[in-house]
Amino acid sequence: MKDNFTRIVEFVRSLYPEDDFIPLHVPRFLGNERKYVMDAIDSTFVSSVGEYVNRFEQMMQQITGAKYAIATVNGTSALHIALLLAGVKNGDEVLTQPLTFVATCNAIAYCNAKPVFVDVDRDTMGLSPDKLKSFLESYAEMRAGKCVNRMTGNHITACLPMHTFGHPCRIDELLDVCKKFNIALVEDAAESLGSYYKARHTGTFGLLGILSFNGNKIATAGGGGVIITDNSDLGKKAKHLTTTAKVPHPYEFVHSEIGYNYRMPNLNAALICAQLEQLDAYLADKRKTAECYKKFFAGMADVNFIAEPENSRSNYWLNAILTGSLEERDKLLKATNDNGVMTRPIWKLMNKVEMFKDCLCGDLVNAEWLEARVVNLPSSVRI
Ligand SMILES: *Cc1c(COP(=O)(O)O)cnc(C)c1O
Repeated sequence: MKDNFTRIVEFVRSLYPEDDFIPLHVPRFLGNERKYVMDAIDSTFVSSVGEYVNRFEQMMQQITGAKYAIATVNGTSALHIALLLAGVKNGDEVLTQPLTFVATCNAIAYCNAKPVFVDVDRDTMGLSPDKLKSFLESYAEMRAGKCVNRMTGNHITACLPMHTFGHPCRIDELLDVCKKFNIALVEDAAESLGSYYKARHTGTFGLLGILSFNGNKIATAGGGGVIITDNSDLGKKAKHLTTTAKVPHPYEFVHSEIGYNYRMPNLNAALICAQLEQLDAYLADKRKTAECYKKFFAGMADVNFIAEPENSRSNYWLNAILTGSLEERDKLLKATNDNGVMTRPIWKLMNKVEMFKDCLCGDLVNAEWLEARVVNLPSSVRI
């Protein structure tokens, strides 16, 4: 009888029969990508001013339902600006999950603020509303209407959950907790383009949200990001800050504050506009792939497929499974990677990486549990 690892390798190969080496996630350019990029070049508008940047922002408003969408050079810069606009200042604390990509925490550090790590839920792999509530009940104190960490004396200004691999977290419950403590909710929806929680697009529950269009995401600009919000004041400020805080003037240089050169170039916007035209097809294809994996793993003891959480519709950006233990996880990683099928463990927890190892943590039992077990599987679009 074949062992589980051989069966997994053969199954993934059956999903991607044309590939010798099967990567985790690669982009596909099957629509108007070449046409729009060539058009941007021909127009000479290749930098941060151009028709495609504006078109991209309109498309993102339509897709997410957010009133304002501001294009940025990448998801990390979008996070940086979103946190600044949420009022995060020097020395403040931002509550986030340890189970995330490093960019989430880097953006907090760019504001000279400190991440504080609160546990995730096992089913969503995203920040846990119950753990957030109990953390705040033991540490938080309201002073003059502001939430203060009574152990450190720092302001707790914002909460930054992440929708892991496209699976929405319990964002409405997180919002309720944040409201009680007057904490701004900012969503790292970098991975969840096309994912909905209770029929609403991820990233639109908080004061601000961000998405990424890096090369490994479900749709790519080469590099790119977007800030979304319903707040007109914040929307305008986001545009201002990401465009060097330049005040419109017919010929003079007028800058009202220290701004950032974070606006997405038109060349990248051309690529993402073409990609977004195909988003519905990508999403349908990804759900099909997820369904295949789900069925396959239903027939395998010791390995569980992670399906979309309750009340949500996931984009299934990266398919993930749960192995029985750290030992099993490592065996599976080796057996698949040795055989040309790329798999990866979930991120090392952020409270363990060098830069953030001294940050304050709540109990992280679920994050620890997931860290030892989760493996991502090849998930590129198959059309
Ligand atoms: C990809 C990603 C980002 C950052 O996006 P970039 O466009 O690569 O800067 C931020 N957070 C998470 C969770 C991501 O997966």
